[in-house]
Amino acid sequence: MLFADVIGQERIKAHLLSSAKENRISHAQLFLGNEGYGTLPLVLAYAQYIMCLNPTESDACGECTACRKVSKLQHPDLHFVFPVVTRKDTDKPVSDHYINEWRNFIATQPYGNYNDWLDAISAENSQGIIRVDESREIIRKLNMKSYESEYKIMVIWYAEKMNAETANKLLKLLEEPPANTFFFLIAQSSEYLLTTILSRTQLVKVTRITEDELFLGIKKHHPMTDDKARELARLSEGSYLLAKEYISASVDTIQNFENFTQLMRLSYKGNFIELVKWVDEISKIGREKQKAFLTYSLRMVRENLVLNQQQKELVRMSTEEETFALRFSTFIHPNNTPLLNQELDKAYLHITRNANPKVVFLDVCIKLNRILKMG
Ligand SMILES: [Zn+2]
Repeated sequence: MLFADVIGQERIKAHLLSSAKENRISHAQLFLGNEGYGTLPLVLAYAQYIMCLNPTESDACGECTACRKVSKLQHPDLHFVFPVVTRKDTDKPVSDHYINEWRNFIATQPYGNYNDWLDAISAENSQGIIRVDESREIIRKLNMKSYESEYKIMVIWYAEKMNAETANKLLKLLEEPPANTFFFLIAQSSEYLLTTILSRTQLVKVTRITEDELFLGIKKHHPMTDDKARELARLSEGSYLLAKEYISASVDTIQNFENFTQLMRLSYKGNFIELVKWVDEISKIGREKQKAFLTYSLRMVRENLVLNQQQKELVRMSTEEETFALRFSTFIHPNNTPLLNQELDKAYLHITRNANPKVVFLDVCIKLNRILKMG
């Protein structure tokens, strides 16, 4: 990753660049910052800059053999440690067992957090930790000669997930690391780190991304209007991860709204050819999204009933939803609302119990056709 790809954090980038250019990189650094601020992307860009064969004043070249290897996380002198879970083939898992998943994770979501990572390795309910076996691996790797670079770099992501035994085994290495070796520890909070680790590392405090920087980052990765991007940047508390969460939630809301208006229009008209097509489409989106859609539909029915009952001040709808509701709410009244709710609830239950979504949604359409026409 290049510094140019890291969102904002200009002050820290400048600090890291000058430390590298002036040859005073401290051998053990702790990057401390909330998720979504970009601690890992900063460390990746820093590592690439240090290893780059033709660095410029402000960034790695991005093209030399070292850059290419670092960017794919395939440089033999760049090592990673991160929390892992036990799996079928070993009860002593270390990071190397998960290196392919890790490369894929960084390629697709470099701002991902601990939970995203556990999802990426399908950890289900297991907790990821950095076990003592990992410290043996670290010691072994750092005692080898470097292969290609002048330096060896060891990145420890979510250092607070090291258990005490692991951390204690690393103390000596942190204090007297082998020559030309850099430790970059990354943590969200110092609360769970041993004071002995804290005292042996130099702190790099990563603060929130500024609103202006976040605005630019959002615009770069997600096409949207300036106003929308500004609003998101303001809401996201300096975290790109939070901004992304807001973006995907609003995409889902738009999708749910479109599905809802189609379902209601087609059901009311009794246009079964189009309804079957709609059912085919919604059957493909997966159970979690189907459940979210049914929850959304229940909320819309409720809001439309409120509007129908002339209690406009209690309505909580977006502008688009309200425009649709102006006409649609005339079809939602106290006589048919309990039946609508009952059908949507039943569909939700059936989807939860793994019923065939095509059967469930087609049944909903047929029932809605009757219910919506009730006086
Ligand atoms: Zn390079």
